[in-house]
Order: sequence, then structure tokens, then C-alpha cells
Amino acid sequence: TQTALLANEKLAVAGRLAASIAHEIHNPLDAVSNLLYLMSSGSTPEETVQFLDMAQQELSRAMQISRSMLGLYRESKAPVAVDVHDMLAGLLLLLERRFQTMGVSVTEAVPAGLCIDGFPAELRQVFTNLIINAAEAASVNEGGRVSVTAAALPPGLDPKGVRHEEGALITVTDNGGGMTPAVRERLFHPFFTTKGEQGTGLGLWVSYGIIRKHGGSIEIESSTDAETHGTSVSVFLASKPVIQPGAD
Ligand code: ADP
Ligand code: MG
Repeated sequence: TQTALLANEKLAVAGRLAASIAHEIHNPLDAVSNLLYLMSSGSTPEETVQFLDMAQQELSRAMQISRSMLGLYRESKAPVAVDVHDMLAGLLLLLERRFQTMGVSVTEAVPAGLCIDGFPAELRQVFTNLIINAAEAASVNEGGRVSVTAAALPPGLDPKGVRHEEGALITVTDNGGGMTPAVRERLFHPFFTTKGEQGTGLGLWVSYGIIRKHGGSIEIESSTDAETHGTSVSVFLASKPVIQPGAD
């Protein structure tokens, strides 16, 4: 009955979340629907240009939200071998132009041949979220920098003395403004964002769920100190993870 209760609790949480996500996506769609109505009921050419522009913005907002949610859906039943270097190099290539326009330089030091088992599309989602967060933080200052590193970790104890199996430790570091204790506390909550309309507040929440499902862990170090400001996010993923049943 303990498990039944837990399952019920989980369903209730899932239901509330689904409702709030539907709400978040409904608002921009509703706006688009109204804008289309205004255009079809005879707007001036200037208004039409303006309404089209607004509709486009609302739609990209809805797409932004649905994109951040994609990682929640399991792509296949069994995990497959994922080459960490190829995954991260591929992501960075895709994001290159974006980093350029943000004025952020990105460096990568990931050994070739480092492999772990997992769900590739979900893991790409995690590191896309972390790297974009880092770039967004770094872009606030001149000389914004992000570094992505990875290392094979032999079985042993983590810095906190918790035993872990063999795996990969992937770290995304930025020299942005860092986070206050209040932000750190709410980081993983769905819809928590300090970016206003620009953020969805889903990135870290989705990432946390995917990492947990992979039996991994995530650690965040951050400083708002004027000298040492910046954030470092480390993700541990086991080489042969025990995929957590019902983690999604
Ligand atoms: P979003 O990026 O849409 O705001 P996230 O879940 O990705 O949502 O992040 C939640 C919040 O955590 C961000 O709004 C920001 O305040 C904080 N945060 C995340 N990553 C960083 C970082 N690298 N540096 C500073 N703050 C960060
Ligand atoms: Mg984000």
C-alpha cells in the first residue's frame, strides 16, 4: 500500500504538472487565435504586419515550451551506447552560431571513446539545456566563456563520500554572474525562471528528471562573488546504468 500511495501521489503531481503545462501552452495559442481573428476581420496593412509579428512571437513561445518538454518522452525501450565526445561535439556544432551572436566563446575538452549507456535524445536534451543556461549566464558580461569537459570516472567514492560505479563526469562551467542562494533553492522547480518572458523554467526540471531516470546525479557549484563569479554544473552518468523504472 505504501507503493500504491506513492504511485497515487506521483499521478497527482503528474496531473497538476500536465495542467500547468497545458495552461502555459494555451496562452500563446489563444493569443494567436485572437490575432488571426483580428486579421481576418479586416485589419489595415500596418496592423496586419504588426499582428503577424505578434503571432510569430507567441508561436515561438509555445514551441519553446514544447521543445523543453520533449526530453520527457522515452524514445526507445532499451538504452544504447552513447559516445559522450560525439554527443557533445555534435551539440556544440549545432549551437555555434547562437554562441557567436551571444558573444560567448565555448571550449570543449572531452576525451574520445568515452561511452555510457543511455537514451541519446534525452541526454542531448540535458546537455543542450545546461550549455544554453551557461551561455545565457556568460553572455551578460564582456568576454563570456563556457567550457565543457568530461572525464572517465573509475568506480569509487565521489567528493561527498558516496560510492558510485564506473562512469563519466561531464562538467559545464561558465563565467556568468552565478546564482544567489534563493535561486539555487528553486532551480529544479518547474516554471522557476529568472529570465522573465525569455525563460520557461523547465530546462533544469526536465534535465533533473532525465538524469534521475538514468540513475545519475547532478551537482551545482555557483558563486556570485565579484571575483570568482560563475557556475559549474557537473553531471555523473554511470557506464552501465540501472534505468530507474517509472522515473518518468
Ligand atoms: P530557464 O533557463 O528557462 O530560466 P532553467 O530551468 O534552465 O530555466 O533554469 C532555471 C533558472 O536557474 C534560470 O532562470 C537561472 O536563474 C538559473 N540558472 C540556471 N543555470 C544557470 C547558470 N549557468 N548561471 C546562472 N544561473 C543559472
Ligand atoms: Mg534554461
